[in-house]
Amino acid sequence: MSITENITRLKASLPAGVTLVAVSKFHPAEALQEAYNAGQRVFGESRAQELTAKQKVLPGDIEWHFIGPLQSNKVKDIAPFIHMIHSIDSLKLLQEVDKQAAKHNRIIRVLLEIHVAQEEAKHGFSPDECRELLHGLSPETLPHIRICGLMGMATNTDDTVQIQNEFHKLHELFSELKNSVFKGDEYFRELSMGMSHDYPVAIREGSTMVRIGTSIFGEREY
Ligand SMILES: *Cc1c(COP(=O)(O)O)cnc(C)c1O
Repeated sequence: MSITENITRLKASLPAGVTLVAVSKFHPAEALQEAYNAGQRVFGESRAQELTAKQKVLPGDIEWHFIGPLQSNKVKDIAPFIHMIHSIDSLKLLQEVDKQAAKHNRIIRVLLEIHVAQEEAKHGFSPDECRELLHGLSPETLPHIRICGLMGMATNTDDTVQIQNEFHKLHELFSELKNSVFKGDEYFRELSMGMSHDYPVAIREGSTMVRIGTSIFGEREY
């Protein structure tokens, strides 16, 4: 199936209120342009250099999301235009995003990445680390960031029950924070979870943003 058909089919299958982030990492600008022509405006990339190169040659109304591990020294390259960073995994990174956003007079939307998978290699805060971070932050400390929600990845497994449990855990933390630290904060509303192989489970567990690459663009070549 073509990129256009994949986008059309996916969009039709997602419930209202769930944003499709088209994960275009490792795919050439032409592939993104095809998705754009099919109406897609939200794209996710995981490497700063690749993202800035694509941003330069693709249409200006694309909403770019950063979803991969982000080194502090790369934040300045994406700060002028990035719409949302899903992968905040340290206070240091949060402070750097705030600092670079200030230089461009912007407020950058971020999600806190939570480690719910069994795999050690995955990034993110544990639920307790996340609570601790948020209780230590007052809104005035980082005026150029806006915490819009949480992001997480489930274990890479065929065990749907395990995937569902992990997404469920993430949703529970999200609800807890929404009713405590973020009570009355209209911006805290995104739960970024679900990839090509597990997004239907993520949607059942309350995802508001799915990050889908392979099911749109095909397999990546590394
Ligand atoms: C690559 C990637 C995705 C997309 O994965 P697919 O299996 O190709 O859909 C989603 N989220 C993150 C963080 C990724 O790095």
